[in-house]
Amino acid sequence: MRIPLLDLQAQYLTIKEEINEAIQNVLNSSVYILGPQMKTLEKEIAAFCGTKEAVAVGNGTDALVLTLKAFGIGPGDEVITTPFTFFASAETIAQVGATPVFVDIDPVTLNMDITQLEGKITSKTKAIIPVHIFGQMLDVEKIMEIAARHDLKVIEDAAQAIGAEYGGKKAGSIGHASTFSFFPTKNLGAYGDAGMIVTNDEDLAAQLRMLRFHGCKVKYYHDEIGYNSRLDELQAAILRVKLRYLDGWNEARREKAKVYDELLKDLPVILPGRDPQALSIYHLYVLRSLRREELMEALKKAGIACAVYYPVPLHLQHAFDNLGYQEGDFPVAEKACQEALAIPAYPELSRAAQEEICDVIKGVYCGK
Ligand SMILES: *Cc1c(COP(=O)(O)O)cnc(C)c1O
Repeated sequence: MRIPLLDLQAQYLTIKEEINEAIQNVLNSSVYILGPQMKTLEKEIAAFCGTKEAVAVGNGTDALVLTLKAFGIGPGDEVITTPFTFFASAETIAQVGATPVFVDIDPVTLNMDITQLEGKITSKTKAIIPVHIFGQMLDVEKIMEIAARHDLKVIEDAAQAIGAEYGGKKAGSIGHASTFSFFPTKNLGAYGDAGMIVTNDEDLAAQLRMLRFHGCKVKYYHDEIGYNSRLDELQAAILRVKLRYLDGWNEARREKAKVYDELLKDLPVILPGRDPQALSIYHLYVLRSLRREELMEALKKAGIACAVYYPVPLHLQHAFDNLGYQEGDFPVAEKACQEALAIPAYPELSRAAQEEICDVIKGVYCGK
């Protein structure tokens, strides 16, 4: 059978009536930007994460840019993040004129290695952006302790982790501010671009609301240079429907992960590494293997989609050539980029499909 990496069509069909009605209601209202759907979604996301405030923006990348700007971070400042993430986590640091500083990752969880963090802090450091990679949180409370000692801001890039927990606390609820992406393939995906920032800091939220709307508090009175970055009413209405299903979908992904763990446990592949305190939402189920290319070829031949997250660590991206990093600087991240392979683990995936995927993987190791 043909198996995609993610099946958004299958998901839509399970909630089609509600989605269509939500879209129709927005069309009937003729309010498209900064309207009641967005404002209600903000309240619902804040409640979901357990934060005081949520500010809706155009996408997850803008969420990071606006947050960095609101914290006054710019030229001359350094911001520490991981080299094993989507480009935007570090691109946004450069976009505001600051310098991304990388720290290698933990070989088990592939999240930022917190034990190496303090060694990267200089007098120029202003913030830390930990990323909850593939939907598994890292210990943000520990990062907050380090940040407090050096007077730094912590921005959780929770783009892949809405609904994930660490020690019973939700992703986004611990940092000074946290960002989400609702890109269509994320666990909570819109049908277009959308993003959100959550925080307990009401002044920061007010500042972010200004920044997303051309630096205005009152229309046509501009207090500063801002952006045009809003989450539109159609996307907000769609996300409000999908948010009601998110916990169930995340639970279904955890069940798929459990099945893979069981079916693949005797093979010489490295299964996703876990922190016992973390409750992952498996944005992606990522195996590691030195024989990745063979696995990809076999899966492809069987009609099964798979993908490499991420082929190149950020310190070796050409866009960051100016930072002067070299191969060998972050060996754990570099190795992960050579070995990581995501296989389908979306909520609607059938047990039969999972068994077929595992048979193909077994075939590679058993020389079939
Ligand atoms: C998706 C993603 C982003 C960017 O979100 P967009 O909505 O695509 O702009 C940022 N960081 C991480 C870790 C992501 O996975």
